[in-house]
Amino acid sequence: MMAAANPDSSAYSPLIRQYLDIKSRHPDSLLFFRVGDFYEMFFEDAEEGSGLLGITLTARNNGGKRDVPLAGVPVKAVNEYVSRLLEMGRRVAICEQLEDPAEARGIVQRDVVEIITPGTVLEDRLLPASRNNYVVAIAGDAPFGLAVVDLSTGEFELREVAAADLNDELGRLEPAEIVIPEETEAPAGPWHLTARPAWRFDASLGDERLREWFGVASSSGFGLDPARDPLLLAASGALLGYLDEVRPAGLDHLRPPRVDRAGRVMYLDEMTRRNLELVEPLRPGEGASLLALIDRTRTPMGARLLRRRLLRPLVVPDEIAVRLDAVQELLERAEERERVRGALRPIRDLERLAARVSTGRAAPRELLGLGLSLGALPGLATALAPLEAGRLAELRSGFDPLRDVAARIDEAIDPDSPHALKDGGVIRSGFSAELDELRGVRGSAVDFIAGMQVRERERTGIDTLKIGFNRVFGYYLEVTRSKLDRVPEEWTRRQTLTNAERYLTPELKEWEAKVLGADDEIAKLEARLFHELRDAVAAEVGRIQATAAQVAEIDFLACLAEVAAAEDYVRPRLSDDIAFDIEEGRHPVVEAAAARDTFIPNDMRLDDERRILIVTGPNMAGKSTVLRQAGLIALLAHIGSFVPARRAHIGVCDRVFTRVGASDNLAAGQSTFMVEMTETATILHGATERSLVLLDEIGRGTSTYDGLSIAWAVTERLHELGARTVFATHYHELVGLAESLPRAAAFNVAVRETGQDIVFLYRLQPGGSDRSYGVHVARLAGLPPDVVGRAARILHMLESGPWGAGGRGAVLAEAGLGQLSLFEAPAPAPGPDGDPPPSGAPDPAESADIAAAREVLEKLAGIDLDGMTPLEALNTLAEWKAFGDA
Ligand code: ADP
Ligand code: MG
Repeated sequence: MMAAANPDSSAYSPLIRQYLDIKSRHPDSLLFFRVGDFYEMFFEDAEEGSGLLGITLTARNNGGKRDVPLAGVPVKAVNEYVSRLLEMGRRVAICEQLEDPAEARGIVQRDVVEIITPGTVLEDRLLPASRNNYVVAIAGDAPFGLAVVDLSTGEFELREVAAADLNDELGRLEPAEIVIPEETEAPAGPWHLTARPAWRFDASLGDERLREWFGVASSSGFGLDPARDPLLLAASGALLGYLDEVRPAGLDHLRPPRVDRAGRVMYLDEMTRRNLELVEPLRPGEGASLLALIDRTRTPMGARLLRRRLLRPLVVPDEIAVRLDAVQELLERAEERERVRGALRPIRDLERLAARVSTGRAAPRELLGLGLSLGALPGLATALAPLEAGRLAELRSGFDPLRDVAARIDEAIDPDSPHALKDGGVIRSGFSAELDELRGVRGSAVDFIAGMQVRERERTGIDTLKIGFNRVFGYYLEVTRSKLDRVPEEWTRRQTLTNAERYLTPELKEWEAKVLGADDEIAKLEARLFHELRDAVAAEVGRIQATAAQVAEIDFLACLAEVAAAEDYVRPRLSDDIAFDIEEGRHPVVEAAAARDTFIPNDMRLDDERRILIVTGPNMAGKSTVLRQAGLIALLAHIGSFVPARRAHIGVCDRVFTRVGASDNLAAGQSTFMVEMTETATILHGATERSLVLLDEIGRGTSTYDGLSIAWAVTERLHELGARTVFATHYHELVGLAESLPRAAAFNVAVRETGQDIVFLYRLQPGGSDRSYGVHVARLAGLPPDVVGRAARILHMLESGPWGAGGRGAVLAEAGLGQLSLFEAPAPAPGPDGDPPPSGAPDPAESADIAAAREVLEKLAGIDLDGMTPLEALNTLAEWKAFGDA
């Protein structure tokens, strides 16, 4: 707009010119421009803001000049409005008055003090407690350098991600905001993107920024090397630059970066996270996630750490063993564990409180909350004292219980402090002699005024006389209408009510001045003392964060021990080989949801000689459950947790892949065959001999023979790769494959047939199942009996064709797979297992269908497509349709 380009334009008042000047520096944010008790938006911001927030759009009188569109929100309610704008993905620049309007000469000085964006918000209400709120900068391409910051806790991590893994990595982090270079391709996903000039993503600039920000001479202290890590430096630089931009006042609580090198942790892709329902159920609201089951943490820091670690399992057996040792000791020493968990309970969100103190946002009650949390630390140290496991001993010996900081807060803040500083009563009595004296003065003045009520009643004989106070008139004497004749002459009337009059006296005003004067002084002094305290605590933010990280880890370990105790888990053995040997394994989540002791445990063994298990069995037999159970046990073991089994020995996996067939996975918009094949491709490209691959019903999203052929070929490839694979399938045809591949074995989930019904036993046993039992399941599910009967006959018909029993493997192995044809004549044969037999003669209705179909087929073969007009084709189609309808 013209005006924006020319802030000095004389068409505007000085205030609007100031606005335009500031706005020109923040074109991509809504500018909240402080004017008195309101934040005002002008021009396009007013129009957009009023639309987004549903507030009134008016016009500001522009000093007799052109009117300016205006929309304002009260300062008191600003958080509410900002949070709504953030949810809509907008950014808000908060522009404050930098001087007291009463003292300003000319126009009040103003500037932007912070920009609130989805990824940099610090308001507690806008942050999820048990998850991190990340802002991520992405540098480079193939591979990418990621700088990841959670401003609400001060965490800062750097890692390199291969091109193919970027989307999965972002899916894991779920960043609230992503900073990318201008004119680069945006990563796919529902992300809030912020583009910044490409030059800001420069490695040497990044190195410089890092050194400057953390006041170090070289970034090598962070494990960074400019020659090796240009992408990480570039991403750091861009992110720090961005943080500088949104928080010009600085961020002292940002911790030095932790470089997360590939090779230490297992990379979990999105399909595996989703299909194993690690942190949320596949269908929201249905079932529970693994995280929900095992999250017995006592603090928000612990909860966030558990979630992070669950999504980044370890791959180094020794590191895992360190965690397992700690969990084991806490499991075995139940009393000590209870003490540790008890000591964790009063500890609040130290990380976020520290961040709020450090950024000057903590209100009195938050500081008090921090103090109380710190006060609980010595108790935690005591509870840890008897524990001996290596990691626990380490945590204990490096533990800083922050007694000095706790004491400092405790001394100063009144335990009954109100939430807001302005309400007064924040500082404890006894902390400042000066404050106590002022409060004394105020108190005696208030007492004196209260005493006046009695004295004046006596003096005037007005026995209903009351002394009251209101904000407008201050103290007053109130006399009911019936006693007005007794009011002394020297009283001044100030206010008339229906039943009473209110008066002032010089004496009352004099004492009131003492009270108000003291109030003023008290407020100033309290504010000063509070800010001094907050600054002093802010200076210790590094220590608080270090302790918070230790608390989080203690909570994490104690939580895993608690789960192991409550759910009866065992310590897994992790090794460097290919073993995968689970005895009496259970699915942790299904087991927890099942009625007591009704879950059937299962053994599962893979090793050098047996890399692939083909698990068949009817629908609902428990194939998916036993398969996911293998994945969940493996992942739990890799984060250092005990596992739901009697015994477990697992050779460390470099990856765990899980693929669930399209028709089993109805998550919104994902159920296409293309997605299924893309995911399968990812597995075939990524799996190694060290991987664990779990395939559930792949190939289901297309026609039977298509699907079966793909499943077949995929299995052969995985067999070549040697990846430990469990493949659950209702294609019992794959059993033959298991028999022909040397390192594959067929298992099935047992069912027992009783007459026309089957009973699910949920027991995994060697051997293939030779049938799908789909018709049985259809009957169980209550399909009408005549439909079930008809299905049984069709099944029989199909199974007796050339691809029927016996010849299946041979037929399929040949290249020329025919698609399923319903038009072949049935070969009469006795019905299997008591299914209603067609008893020799074909059903007459069936014969008529087949005859009609034959006729159509014959005509189809005789058609000369090239010599046909579209109209003729349509007519032919209509003719054939008549056969079907007849
Ligand atoms: P499939 O994949 O073979 O169709 P699922 O694994 O989905 O079957 O299992 C179907 C249902 O059977 C599950 O929802 C669960 O309630 C029950 N189930 C599965 N495995 C077991 C088991 N081992 N013990 C008890 N119930 C089980
Ligand atoms: Mg299934």
